[in-house]
Amino acid sequence: MEAPKKIIVAGAGLVGSLLAIALKKRGHEVLVFEKRADMRRASSSAGKSINLIITAKGMRPLVNLGLWEKVQAITSPVIGRTMHSKTGELAFQPYGKDPSECNYSVGRGGLNRLLMTEAEKVGVKIAFDSPLVSLDLSTKTAQFENAPALRYDLLFGADGTGSATRQALIQALGAEAQYKEMTLPAQDGTWAMDKDSLHIWPRGQHMLMGLPNQDGTFTMTLYMPQAWFAEFKTPGAFEQYFKTNYPDAIPLMPDYRQEYQANPQGFLGIVRMKPWIFEDQIALLGDAAHAMVPFFGQGMNSGFSDVQFLLEQMDQHPNDYRAIFQRYNELQKLSGDAIADMSLENFSEMCDKVGDQGFLLRKKVENKLEHAFPTKFRSRYGLVTYTLIPYHLVKEVGLLQDEVLNELCRDLTSPDELDLKRAERLLDEKIVPWFRSHDLSTERYFPSR
Ligand code: FAD
Repeated sequence: MEAPKKIIVAGAGLVGSLLAIALKKRGHEVLVFEKRADMRRASSSAGKSINLIITAKGMRPLVNLGLWEKVQAITSPVIGRTMHSKTGELAFQPYGKDPSECNYSVGRGGLNRLLMTEAEKVGVKIAFDSPLVSLDLSTKTAQFENAPALRYDLLFGADGTGSATRQALIQALGAEAQYKEMTLPAQDGTWAMDKDSLHIWPRGQHMLMGLPNQDGTFTMTLYMPQAWFAEFKTPGAFEQYFKTNYPDAIPLMPDYRQEYQANPQGFLGIVRMKPWIFEDQIALLGDAAHAMVPFFGQGMNSGFSDVQFLLEQMDQHPNDYRAIFQRYNELQKLSGDAIADMSLENFSEMCDKVGDQGFLLRKKVENKLEHAFPTKFRSRYGLVTYTLIPYHLVKEVGLLQDEVLNELCRDLTSPDELDLKRAERLLDEKIVPWFRSHDLSTERYFPSR
């Protein structure tokens, strides 16, 4: 039995509302503070009005909390994507390996309203028009607008991409990575590097990354610990750092010194924060911890899986929030970082490749492998969306699958030419041992369809 705690959740978005329901059901006192007005009452629709897809990892805590049926009632199943060419031809790609595997499309506002209402039904108190103003970690006191200063035992920051909770932790702890964008120009009107790749110069704590643009340039993003930006303020210090770490990029980036000085420091739509926790007191979840570009449709799903992970840890380590938070920071952070990376990779997949014949052929080969060898192969997309396997493990096995698919698709003009015996040999050699050594469940999660 857990000892009841006084818990504050900053943010009544999707993740904050779901977490509040779960914590209240476990017997805690839960107060939620939301920056915006109550979207159920406000005349204009508050927040971004977008449709989201719910997939297995997001569905799981909804099922566990007995909310899935209500949520499902406001969703529409989507079984694949249809690409429209400029000349009006259609190309359909199923999402799952058959139509029983589908994504559920839901309006974000509708889902958020439902979760808030369910939270209030179980006794959660939500204060609206109350953004987080400041945190005092030493006294465990939070100040929200329009509210007295409040003491808490635990505080969860589910306050989205621009998280004030994260900002308070950054001030207290000193942040890890921040970003600066620069340009790698086109050469002779064309791309100076392979344009179909996300280019990465991994250097441990810091890295340079390049994503292609249509005009032949690359947007280069330099990720470094926040403190380094202050350290490399002078052109000389930055030049020395860049020469030491990225010598091969320098000839391709003639303006790197000027751009570094002139361009703002900020986010690419991706948030990478380390750590996600403070001692046994504060944890960040959802976009506050790992905002990502929306090209894998997993931002909310991964936020919901943060909730699920925390609840499982609470079961395993009752009342030991230091252990709960540490494991959350060690394991779930790996997963959140991986899906943020994959969402960037998917950006290039969706923008550059969906009309590409080679890519479409590869997708058909994947589909054929999934049907022929259901215990030995699942596409990376399938593993992300239809299984509960953590994102970082999916990312790892995805690289092995790429090797197999590259080999199988070489010289192939149609999926009918696929040599299934050779395919199975390759899977046995490269993929199956990985699955065995990781003891992964490929559990499908489609309750009450
Ligand atoms: P939010 O939903 O942003 O909620 C944060 C809440 O905190 C808000 O209510 C905000 O008002 C409040 N807040 C902010 N500051 C404060 C403060 N100082 N104090 C108190 N409260 C505060 N995800 C998917 O899983 N599937 C998809 O298909 C998908 N498609 C997307 C498409 C687009 C175009 C975009 C932009 C995103 C998409 N996402 C998708 C991502 C998804 O919308 C987010 O990951 C999800 O909303 C994150 O939920 P959250 O609760 O962490 O943050």
